[in-house]
Amino acid sequence: MTLAHVLGYPRIGADRELKRAVEAYWRGELDRDALEASARELRARHWQAQRDAGLDLVTVGDFAFYDQVLNVSAMVGAVPTRFAAEAEVARGEVDLDTQFRMARGRAPSGAPAAACEMTKYFDTNYHYLVPELHAGQTFKLAATRLFDEVAEARGAGHPVKVVLTGPLTWLWLGKGREAGFDRLSLLPALLPVYGEILARLAEQGVEWVQLDEPALVQDLPLEWRNAYEFAYSSLRAAPVKLLLATYFGGLGDNLRLAASLPVDGLHIDTVRAPEQLTAVLDNLSGYKVLSVGAIDGRNVWRADLAVLHERLANARMRLGERLWLAPSCSLLHVPVDLAAETTLDEELKSWLAFARQKLDETVTLARLLGNRGTDEDRARVAAATAALDARRASPRLHRPEVAERLAGVGDAERSRDNPYPVRARAQRRALDLPLFPTTTIGSFPQTAGIRAARRAFKSGELGHDAYEAAMRDEIADAVRRQEAYGIDMLVHGEAERNDMVEYFGEQLDGYAFTRNGWVQSYGSRCVKPPVIVGDVARPAPMTVAWSRYAQSLTERPMKGMLTGPVTMLQWSFVRDDQPREVTCRQIALALRDEVADLEAAGIPAIQIDEPALREGLPLRQSEWQSYLDWAVECFRLTASVARDATQIHTHMCYSEFNDIIGAIAALDADVITIETSRSNMELLDAFQDFAYPNEIGPGVYDIHSPNVPEVAWMVQLMEKAAERIPAERLWVNPDCGLKTRSWAEVEPALANMVEAACELRRRY
Ligand code: GLN
Ligand code: ZN
Repeated sequence: MTLAHVLGYPRIGADRELKRAVEAYWRGELDRDALEASARELRARHWQAQRDAGLDLVTVGDFAFYDQVLNVSAMVGAVPTRFAAEAEVARGEVDLDTQFRMARGRAPSGAPAAACEMTKYFDTNYHYLVPELHAGQTFKLAATRLFDEVAEARGAGHPVKVVLTGPLTWLWLGKGREAGFDRLSLLPALLPVYGEILARLAEQGVEWVQLDEPALVQDLPLEWRNAYEFAYSSLRAAPVKLLLATYFGGLGDNLRLAASLPVDGLHIDTVRAPEQLTAVLDNLSGYKVLSVGAIDGRNVWRADLAVLHERLANARMRLGERLWLAPSCSLLHVPVDLAAETTLDEELKSWLAFARQKLDETVTLARLLGNRGTDEDRARVAAATAALDARRASPRLHRPEVAERLAGVGDAERSRDNPYPVRARAQRRALDLPLFPTTTIGSFPQTAGIRAARRAFKSGELGHDAYEAAMRDEIADAVRRQEAYGIDMLVHGEAERNDMVEYFGEQLDGYAFTRNGWVQSYGSRCVKPPVIVGDVARPAPMTVAWSRYAQSLTERPMKGMLTGPVTMLQWSFVRDDQPREVTCRQIALALRDEVADLEAAGIPAIQIDEPALREGLPLRQSEWQSYLDWAVECFRLTASVARDATQIHTHMCYSEFNDIIGAIAALDADVITIETSRSNMELLDAFQDFAYPNEIGPGVYDIHSPNVPEVAWMVQLMEKAAERIPAERLWVNPDCGLKTRSWAEVEPALANMVEAACELRRRY
């Protein structure tokens, strides 16, 4: 046989039950027992789904109330002292509320404290809590939930495989603040706790433990590579079998290392890196299991089972029973169940597979490879082949006019007419702005009224005209307020937008939207990424009427507001039948038309947001340049249609710039606004060192905090900025959009911001 398993299953539940339970618990509406009961119920359901599908092992340890990396931090007793949990750690029972405080600063019990940093897990949109590390840190087995979950699964009669983030990836994901501190120095202290965990699992009768080590698909310094040998030689003493799991890419120069570690099995991702299969087969010792991740755990498309069957036949021949089959990575990154999609058309539905469907795909492929295929399996293969043939031939995918237009793009379309200094003169004449001009990033508070109107509109209670009128009132209100505060370049406020990607996707051809396709983003937060199905085109202007209306209300310049092509790509499920960059260019051309139409409607400045530009960076540095080349090209394709006098802005948040500053400059936006207030303008160093030539608005108002920034505070931040960038090229603005804030907070903050700009004008 060929064993079928998954690296992990979504834990939120098909109906986001976990989100609801956890949030109710935080609000005090659900007690601890009820919370635990609903978690147990979800785990039982998810294990049962794996068994019902025919998997040979169910995976335990993928459940988390907040985050699986945080689970490990609690388990090894890595709780920062500000959470005052020493007694809990000593007892070996870090409380759930302590974990919640680490994750979000507060919980129903325990004193609030600053939450741990959260950041994206490799190149996914899933956020984990960064382990806080320091020199001389000690570790201790300090949470036992995992063992309880194993007992639960075994109690239900399931054959169990346990998953845990591996020790090196856990350290790799961690951070220490002290200068000269080396995370690796903690490995010898950490390993005994892992050893203890493995021994306890063995006592519970667990045979296999999957240790996730995706750090192995990144560029590792030599000491880290050596540490893998050291760590796994030490863990081999544990009385369980270890499956070392790698995913999100190829092993590359770590291939021999990964293949030779003293473990019982290796999992590789053959969706992202199909070419590595042969090399791994050639390097794997004769006793090891190879788990092949052949079903895409990062995307929603149905697998081509016939092709995979054929491709893996050789591996099966070489490995026999030592071949295992799985999705490429945990199914955490895809929505739960396609069956819940009641509004998607049947054709599109037949092309897709969510987590539940991927279980079936995995089982069928494994049974076929193990020569145990049933009639049902053969029927599934036939259905997949038919659906994929239909998809390939579908006119929904290919629009000849889109391909033709792309083919005809030349250098002229990728550059503005004139270089920045020439444009800046034209813009100065057109806009007539003061020194240190003030602006905002786009959105204003999404009030309860706005959200209620949108809900009523979507449910049909509120008619189209009434909804538009309500949004126009919001825009008029936002314009009036900005004029009252004295802002120089206005925005319309984005009242009509639910989400910066969905809003545009809904108006573009080629995009599809699920009803229930939720994916965990962090903690209880889920996102519902749109699906890019076919060639992207813009049937009609998307934002022009709103922006034109907003401009008609004021003499001051109005800034149009678009989401950029890279962000539109990055925050969607993309087509797997053409390179990402081709899809991105199509989006860029669609947005280019919007820029042209905004300009023609008399909008003097247009902002193209690209907050996701940095997160699109590949996991391997050697691939950065080619990504940045096409990402920059796409932005320029969108922006370059603008005349000299039309000012192009861009905005990026949560970004570091030092290693990509060349690409940022190559965007050639006239103005870039960035998030800097919390870094004390240090992010500007990269711009200074590079002699960044265009204008910059370093955020002076931290919109993530409810606090109202003081005038003097903002003035001194801008003075720091002016030490790095000439004052004539500086703007004064918040860090990011204001949609999550209330007017009560925004009003005094923006009034202060304008006053700070006035003070700066007096000083410069
Ligand atoms: N224009 C968007 C807003 O203001 C930008 C959002 C973002 O950068 N994430 O909300
Ligand atoms: Zn932002």
